Amino acid sequence: EHTVARIAAGEVVERPASAVKELVENSVDAGADSVDVTVEEGGTELIRVADDGRGMNETDVRAAVREHTTSKIEGLEDLESGVTTLGFRGEALHTIGSVSRLTIRSRPQDGAEAGGAGTELVYEGGEVTSVEPTGCPAGTIVEVEDLFYNTPARRKFLKTTATEFAHVNRIVTRYALANPDVAVSLTHDGREVFATTGQGDLQAAVLAVYGRDVASAMIPVDADGDELPPGPLESVTGLVSHPETNRSSREYLSTYVNDRAVTADPIREGIMGAYGTQLGGDRYPFVVLFLEAPGETVDVNVHPRKREVRFDDDDSVRRQVDAAVEAALLEHGL
Ligand code: ADP
Ligand code: MG
Repeated sequence: EHTVARIAAGEVVERPASAVKELVENSVDAGADSVDVTVEEGGTELIRVADDGRGMNETDVRAAVREHTTSKIEGLEDLESGVTTLGFRGEALHTIGSVSRLTIRSRPQDGAEAGGAGTELVYEGGEVTSVEPTGCPAGTIVEVEDLFYNTPARRKFLKTTATEFAHVNRIVTRYALANPDVAVSLTHDGREVFATTGQGDLQAAVLAVYGRDVASAMIPVDADGDELPPGPLESVTGLVSHPETNRSSREYLSTYVNDRAVTADPIREGIMGAYGTQLGGDRYPFVVLFLEAPGETVDVNVHPRKREVRFDDDDSVRRQVDAAVEAALLEHGL
């Protein structure tokens, strides 16, 4: 049984960043106003995600690491609709715990247990090894130590600390930018990489994540309805950088469809088309762009663990994104 879980884990948890994604999603789902992510050695030694979300009592914590347990499926309808958009339901903690040493400390925000002690559960290689009362703040702290310690092949496949951390950074950055009302921080090997306040708007989040030079180069995009050419997109909003502020990597293109961080060729091509030759070869702008599209026009389940989406009508999406970004640049004389 544990072998099966470990094999499945390879599918679900490819690298530290995939575990970070699951843990941060859980924190956001738990209604957290603040999410603090701490990693060591690119996440291979330690991943800690601390939130002030609703928290769990002992029963909830025990249930959380069981296979196929989720508090999030309401009914059959839920199963058939967008459930897989956030991955397979109810497996993340169980799966991560089967390939690491997982510790959960949690205390409920409300209810009878709110004032009492919290619960600390330790789960190692797929077994609950201890459950004890502990003093902890209301909310949840999940620690993942020694990821893949019992799957040497997977451990060997990991890249350098810098590369693994870059993946972690990208995931946390995308959450921070999409949730300016949540205070998100990221710390690597004792150094704070960024911290958003959770008080501001998108512009404030960009300032916290990318710094003043980038933030001051951002131009608002805000197109909907008649301002867009015909196509599935109902609106395109966000920020794009002045062409002089650019990088040689696509990493700074943060694009979202219906609030989910995604990548799609027509979106990227639309953005790049709007800049035309202004960026120079192989240069990419800083972009944080939110697209709204009716669910039936976009397939978010190309691969449940990947961020790729597919549209029914790529050409229209490309034209719509191009037009929205071009209008924003034009308004700034670009
Ligand atoms: P899923 O998120 O798909 O339900 P997970 O394995 O990620 O599955 O989590 C299992 C359950 O544990 C969740 O449904 C939720 O009830 C609980 N849980 C996990 N993380 C948190 C958290 N940070 N705060 C509160 N509850 C959590
Ligand atoms: Mg989850």
